[in-house]
Order: sequence, then C-alpha cells, then structure tokens
Amino acid sequence: QESVAIETLTDGFHLLIDALKLNEINTIYNVPGIPITDLGRYAQGEGIRVLSFRHEQHAGYAAGAAGFLTKKPGVCMTVSAPGFLNGLTALANATTNCWPMILISGSSEREVVDLMQGDYEEMDQLAIAKPLCKAAYRILHAEDIGIGVARAIRAAVTGRPGGVYLDIPGSLLGQTMDAIEGQKSLVKVIDPAPSQLPAPDAVARAIDVLKGAKKPLIILGKGAAYAQADDVVRELVEKSGIPYLPMSMAKGLLPDNHPQSSSAARSLVLKESDVVLMVGARLNWLLSHGKGKQWGEPHSKKFIQIDIEPKEMDSNVEIAAPLVGDIQSCAQALIDAMGSDWKKPPTDWTGAVRAKVEGNIEKMASRLQGNATPMNYHSALGVVKKVFEDRPDTILVNEGANTLDFARSIVDMSKPRKRLDVGTWGVMGIGMGSAIAAAVETGCPVVAVEGDSAFGFCGMEVETICRYNLPICVVIFNNNGIYRGDDENRSGGDDPATTVFVKDSRYEKMMEAFGGVGVYATSPDDLKRAIFEAIDSRKPTLINAIIDEAAGKESGNIGSLNPQSVVAQA
Ligand code: ADP
Ligand code: MG
Repeated sequence: QESVAIETLTDGFHLLIDALKLNEINTIYNVPGIPITDLGRYAQGEGIRVLSFRHEQHAGYAAGAAGFLTKKPGVCMTVSAPGFLNGLTALANATTNCWPMILISGSSEREVVDLMQGDYEEMDQLAIAKPLCKAAYRILHAEDIGIGVARAIRAAVTGRPGGVYLDIPGSLLGQTMDAIEGQKSLVKVIDPAPSQLPAPDAVARAIDVLKGAKKPLIILGKGAAYAQADDVVRELVEKSGIPYLPMSMAKGLLPDNHPQSSSAARSLVLKESDVVLMVGARLNWLLSHGKGKQWGEPHSKKFIQIDIEPKEMDSNVEIAAPLVGDIQSCAQALIDAMGSDWKKPPTDWTGAVRAKVEGNIEKMASRLQGNATPMNYHSALGVVKKVFEDRPDTILVNEGANTLDFARSIVDMSKPRKRLDVGTWGVMGIGMGSAIAAAVETGCPVVAVEGDSAFGFCGMEVETICRYNLPICVVIFNNNGIYRGDDENRSGGDDPATTVFVKDSRYEKMMEAFGGVGVYATSPDDLKRAIFEAIDSRKPTLINAIIDEAAGKESGNIGSLNPQSVVAQA
C-alpha cells in the first residue's frame, strides 16, 4: 500500500470549518462535548469566534437571535441526543419566528443507531429534527461537506427564513481526503436569498384596495425588521401618510415617536380601520387572528398582505390583496405604483388617531414618574424609557409576563432591530441567549429587562456573559414570583404557592460570583444610576430591581388565554 503524506490531506473537521468560513459564517454558539469538542477547538484555531455556553438551549437562542439581527444563519453546535434536544427547542423557536439558524449536532454512528444497538447518546436525531424545522440534512462523507453546508445555508435564508438541522456523525469528522480535492469540493452559496418580485397585477390590486380606504392602517412586523429594508419601509409609510402600528420587534423600524405611529392608539386603529396593509407580520394570536371584538367585528375590513411565504395568505381571514415577494421589492413596487399624485388618508381619520395617541401618551407620562420604594412596573420602566432615549444605540432584550407587557408599551425604540423579545411563541428563557448574541453580533451595549421568573430559565449564562466580558446589563424585575409574589398555597399546606419564589432573593450575587458587577436597587433613582453606569462602563452587570410583589397581574395581558375551571369556581 502506498502511504500518503499527511500534509496533502484534509479531514472532516477542517472541511466543515472551511465550508463555514467560505460562506462568511464567523461565529458559532457552542456547547462542547463528544463528538464535537475538537471541532470547536479547531474552529477557534481557524479564526471562527466560538462562544461556549452552559446549556445548549441558550446557545441555540443566541444563534436564532443572531439570524434575526444579521440576515445570515446563526450557527449553534451541540453534542448528541440530550444536547441535540436542548438545541432543538431553540431551532424550533427560530423556525416559528422565521429566523435563519443552523443547528449542527454531532451524532452516533448510523450502523449502531439504525440497528438500535444502544450507543453512547444514541438517537435518530435527523428523524426527530425533521418535523420541527424547515429542513434537515445529514452528511455521511467528507466529500459531501461542501454541498451539505451550502444546502443548509440556502435552506435557512431563502424564501421564508427558518431553522435547519445538520447531522454530523462523529466518524465524519475524522474522515480524510486529498486536501486539494477537498478545497474543490467546497461550495460558496451565491445569492442565498434572491429578491422575489411581486407580480404586477398583484401590485395593481393592492393599490386599488388601498385607494378605496377611508381609514387605512399599516402593520409592521418583525419580518419587516428582519428584511433590513429600513429606508423603503419608511418611505412607504411616509409617502402613504397612513398611520402604522409596529409589532413588538418591529418597534424602532421607524422611531416610536414618529408622528404616524399609532402604538398608543392600538385598540382604536385595530377596531376602526377599514383597510389594513400587513408588512412582514402574521395574523396569528398576537393579532387575535384578524377577527373578533378587537377588530371591531362584525366588520368588512380588507387586508393587503406583503409576505415572502405564499401559504401565509388566508391563514386566518381572507386576504383581499396578497402581495407575495420580499419586503424591499414589494414596498418599492407599492411606492412606485402610488405615483406622484397619491392622496393621503382623510384627515378626520389621521387626526382622530393622533388625538388618541397624544391623549394616551400624556396619561401614561404621569404614571412613569415617582421615586417610591418598592418600585412598581411603571416607575421602574419610566427609568428604562429614559435610558433608551439617552442611549439609542443600546439593544433592549425583554421577557417576562408583566415585565414584557409593560416594557413593550412604555419603552420607545428609535432605531431598527434594537428590540429582541419572546417572539411568536411568547417563550420564556430567551433573555440571556438573545443578549449574548446581540452584544456579540453588534458590539452595542445590551440591557436585558427580565422578569425574575423568565431569568430563572437562563440565569446560569451570566457566567458566559462574564467569561466573554460582554457589555450586558441584566435588570431583573424581582417581584418574588411568577405574575405576582404574594400568592398563597390554596390548600393551606406548608409548601409555598405554585407561583412564588424565595422572597428577597439576591440575584445580583450571581453576577458577583463570576466577577461581574451586582447592584441591589430599591428605588427608580438607584436603578437609573446603575443602568447608565453599566452601559457606559460596558461591564457585565446584574441589577436586582425590587418591584412591589402585589404589582403584577396573572399572565400579564394574556390572562384570557388561561382555561377556566367551572368546577373549582362553583
Ligand atoms: P410579528 O410577530 O412581528 O407580527 P411574524 O413573525 O408573525 O411578525 O411575521 C413575519 C412574517 O414576515 C412572516 O410571515 C415571514 O414569512 C415574513 N418575512 C420574513 N422575511 C421576509 C422578507 N424578507 N420579505 C417578506 N416577508 C418576510
Ligand atoms: Mg416575577
């Protein structure tokens, strides 16, 4: 047998790394272990930024958030079976949110898995991933790594973005091949998310519907934020003169204090509008499925919808004018078709919306003041609002129940993609992963406003924040529990109520344990000082903000989603 000089060889490890680098994937959100420990090391050695987390779910949430922020797939890497399953939650979350992400998991050898012979961390991961993501692939041969990575990238970003699973059996990594042949086998994905132009007759139909409106409304969703078509979206809103409503992660696409923003008149515009132009937003539960009391039923509203996913049309109600294409192209086509003599909506409509907005903002303003101890949601968020006015480049991460609902409506954003929250699922635990991705991908300071319950799902990642010395300030709204901290055990027994935590928990000491700054804040003034200091110093900081335990309400704004027991209430 001829012996081959080792310098002329490459292997699965290096081909995978080279394939990612060729496609400008420069960051991996990782949890090491068999069989991918060395893959992470070699990737780091080859100049990829590899951030190791304490739990795969948060590495995965970071990858999803990175996908949203950058329009490139965020990559999460995990071990087999349990690590894979932990990452899979985040992959499914990214898919649900339409964010591009790739979960790369090591797996056991096919021969053993397929005969179910009981390998270390044995699991048929490909089969399990398939129904929970946009696409799932397995690479068995080193020479297929280039095409496998290319497929994963294209599947993640093209059309409606989503999560892709890439299965890497451990033995693939050790396979060798000729280095020159290996380089030739790599594939650079050209134009991964091509423009998709709307059909001219669909544009004409949409303009017809819009012209017939007396009380039009534009709803901007996180798809519009993702699209990075900021200028054209702004031009569409301003040229049309139509009041707009941003969904939570579309806040800041136009500054929240824009004269056409109708956030503070949400109930009014949903109820009374007659034509609604949806831009990268879905008529799902977050918009009451486009029907019912909130929409002023019975009504004869007409919807125009811009979406890259044709199947999204008519998901809940009839769409009078579907506009299938990417947001940049669709918005530009509408602007062009509006021509030079576009008539802005009647002033009795825009005036009524504006009056309602101003009235509500004024009412809210007085509630945001006050320096009493303990704080309530309004006094604490009055401070956060002020911080974001003064430091508009800061990214806000936000989760919790009451903490989320109040912050969404109180804290204004003035730039696009500065708000990351619980997304389409309304999931808890995204906070630390999102905050880490935001800091890593943008370099901007991050303030994560977290309910104490939400924080509990991801709190160990404060060590990760300290390890990489990231400019993240975690603010825990600590009300001693889930929803409220003053509930009682209804049996009268010794266990605490199901929704309360240890009273006066000192969360700030968790940050101190890893070398970060911990602050115990009982008044709005304390809180304000500490957040500004954290942003300006860029030191990992955790502020334990003490909130009145009686201030919140069950499930925040979505209490109506709780099933009711007729029997228990009898
Ligand atoms: P929100 O929760 O803010 O209402 P959703 O996540 O429900 O937003 O909706 C986002 C929509 O945007 C999805 O239906 C998705 O298909 C669509 N979308 C994502 N990216 C683009 C794009 N580049 N062009 C057009 N539509 C897009
Ligand atoms: Mg709480």
